[in-house]
Amino acid sequence: MITITGKGVSTGVAVGPLYFYRRASGEIPRTTVEDSVAELARFEAAKQTAIEQLGKLYEKALAEAGEEAAILFETHQMMLEDLDYVESIQGLIEGDHLNAEAAVSDTSAQFAEMFASMDDSYMQARAADVKDISSRVIGILMGVAQGGIDSDVPVILASDDLAPSETVQLDKSKILGFVTSGGSGNSHTAILARTMGIPAIIGVGDQLKEAFEGKEVFVDGQTGEVVVEADDVSRERLSKKQSKERARRELLDQLKGKPNETLDGKNMMVYCNIGNPGDMDAVLANDGGGIGLFRSEFLYLQGDDYPTEEQQFQAYKTVAERMGGKRVIIRTLDIGADKQADYFGLDKEENPAMGLRAIRICLTRPEVFKTQLRALYRASAYGKIAIMFPMITSVWEVQEIKRICANIRAELAEEGVPMADYVELGIMIETPSAVMMSDRLAREVDFFSVGTNDLTQYTLAVDRQGNNLDKFYDAHHPAVLRMLKMAADNAHAAGIWIGICGELGADTSLTETFFALGIDELSVSPSAVLPLRGAIRAIDTTASRDRILAELYE
Ligand code: PEP
Ligand code: MG
Repeated sequence: MITITGKGVSTGVAVGPLYFYRRASGEIPRTTVEDSVAELARFEAAKQTAIEQLGKLYEKALAEAGEEAAILFETHQMMLEDLDYVESIQGLIEGDHLNAEAAVSDTSAQFAEMFASMDDSYMQARAADVKDISSRVIGILMGVAQGGIDSDVPVILASDDLAPSETVQLDKSKILGFVTSGGSGNSHTAILARTMGIPAIIGVGDQLKEAFEGKEVFVDGQTGEVVVEADDVSRERLSKKQSKERARRELLDQLKGKPNETLDGKNMMVYCNIGNPGDMDAVLANDGGGIGLFRSEFLYLQGDDYPTEEQQFQAYKTVAERMGGKRVIIRTLDIGADKQADYFGLDKEENPAMGLRAIRICLTRPEVFKTQLRALYRASAYGKIAIMFPMITSVWEVQEIKRICANIRAELAEEGVPMADYVELGIMIETPSAVMMSDRLAREVDFFSVGTNDLTQYTLAVDRQGNNLDKFYDAHHPAVLRMLKMAADNAHAAGIWIGICGELGADTSLTETFFALGIDELSVSPSAVLPLRGAIRAIDTTASRDRILAELYE
């Protein structure tokens, strides 16, 4: 038995085989093959597997995001059957005795170049598709799974850390828990684990060894323990803890349908954070009261090109409809910094967290912003959609955004497109500047939502992704809490509400404090809704408010 420890960032106990996340290596083998008949058969088998995988992705996308989003996978299936494409690969294997990987790679490069040089923009866009299908086939030939997991049974997934674009592509049904050598509590692996309600342990460093691959491990997301091949004593202890955890969840289930009301009758709106329509099952299963943050950038991280207006519309509509009239706050694109999509073609920056990101991209690339806003306003006809803008620092930004929104509304109205009569507009308060200007900003919008992940980073000047900075990244810091109070007072003075959608919202050791500061809404991972409800229902705010405020300003 070997025990290693890291930092638990999502609670729960899980057990299963350890599996290392696979990334396609850049190096594609190039050899001469003697037996080209066998090589042709290898290619044919890989092509069939790719077609099957695409069929499954089609079904998944259809269920999660609708027909328009799913159609891409059907197109990819057809491209894999395209005679010119297939014959080119077969020719290189038979004629030049090339190995299948190199034959697919060369054909891909040739076809992509041909598509890219065409005048028609639709055909140009096919270059990315041909590269995509080819890398799928090459991945299969090289034994590298798409989506990183090639296992028949669910696993504990191990990696250095996962990029947001990698987390969106994971087959979630195959994951029991996460162990990463790097990462931070705010990394997207941690956020994903909390959304899924499964344990995650980060920062185990070089204690995580490839030699553990396939071995049975227990992970405890509360203590940060990873136990490889547990002995009988540890096995019994951890299995007991797992059963206790299950019993606790069952107890929490009894809170479903109950109000988020304190002992002295104060209410808190408890909403959920999601990354894509597929997270809605977890929201509904945990009785979320609304969506407080839909991180729409995950739609942009899913593919190799901008999601179309129609694809976005389908995703937003699905969420709005499934929430059945409850508020759904969709945040506009928050790309940049830790969330990178290559096709945006952004320059490498020295300091990306302070660079061209989020609303700054939208205001510099109006066509990208416009596509998203059109999709959002169109979807507003199907539920209670509110739009939220990230990384605001100045009043002029909000005024410009409002002007753009008004233009889009007018354009859609002219086209006769149905829309909600009124769509609330809100901003994220996640920069110190937004806090300091919150009196003026509150007069411009319908609500505030505090992004404590970024607000802590910018207030304390500590990189939220920093591996060794945990000690300094203190979201409980009085500077952060005082900022919450200032923004809340200014929101209320202007007659609007304020919530928190950063990870801090789920921290039940602060729930009482949030009431004292005047927070009206908390948006948390779906699995945190019921524990938070339990905490709220055990609080008496009249007894604690003055003490908490006195301590904060002493
Ligand atoms: C935040 O900054 O607190 C937030 C909710 O947004 P993200 O974590 O996506 O930056
Ligand atoms: Mg943020």
